[in-house]
Amino acid sequence: MKCIGLIGGMSWESTIEYYRVINEKVKNRLGGLNSAKCILWSVNFEEIELYQRTNEWDKCGKILNDIAKNLEKMGADFLVLTTNTMHKISEMVLDGVNIPFLHIADMTADEIIKERISTIGLLGTKYTMTEDFYKSKLIEKGISVIVPEENDQNIINEIIYEELCKGIIKDESRNKYIEIINKMLKNGAQGIILGCTEIGLLIKQENIAAKMFDTTLIHAKKAVEYALE
Ligand code: GLU
Repeated sequence: MKCIGLIGGMSWESTIEYYRVINEKVKNRLGGLNSAKCILWSVNFEEIELYQRTNEWDKCGKILNDIAKNLEKMGADFLVLTTNTMHKISEMVLDGVNIPFLHIADMTADEIIKERISTIGLLGTKYTMTEDFYKSKLIEKGISVIVPEENDQNIINEIIYEELCKGIIKDESRNKYIEIINKMLKNGAQGIILGCTEIGLLIKQENIAAKMFDTTLIHAKKAVEYALE
């Protein structure tokens, strides 16, 4: 079994899901007392979120790059960055790192292709929904991407940082998400990416009248498949 290097804590509310799902999948695959070999490095998210907001992404890059190098030195065989948003700076994170990296958008795109879906709705932070770093990975693989309109993007983003990353789960926010998801489905989305690792805490498959792609579950599953390959 390979050792999974997890760069986590963005936020810890979702990282805990990765840890749980990864171990459950190893148990299901191997049985007995088998559990995942992994090293989890969890950051202080207050620091990271501040540098996002002040547009000092190079500072985030430095923090995460040091962690990636340390995980490699400590014996991680490959890396998993447990947030969609921070993939914006994945090149900085991987500078000088020599072990493989499982890119969350690549893994998600592969699952979408398997379902023969060609137009997908994307939910995530404002960075993920508006910038190219994430959508381009899907578009490269022939998938068209629909994002919510600007006002709805603000609602989605605010709920992520003000509630989900703080472990606050509200029915009212779930209803807002469902309304926005339904608009995207009406606009032609054939499935929905939960492109932020906390959204799965709020939205489940039964809330969506189309196939849901929860990036936390997909990424954790791919990590286990790769670890056991
Ligand atoms: N976990 C989130 C994501 O998947 C957002 C938190 C962050 O800014 O990293 O994008």
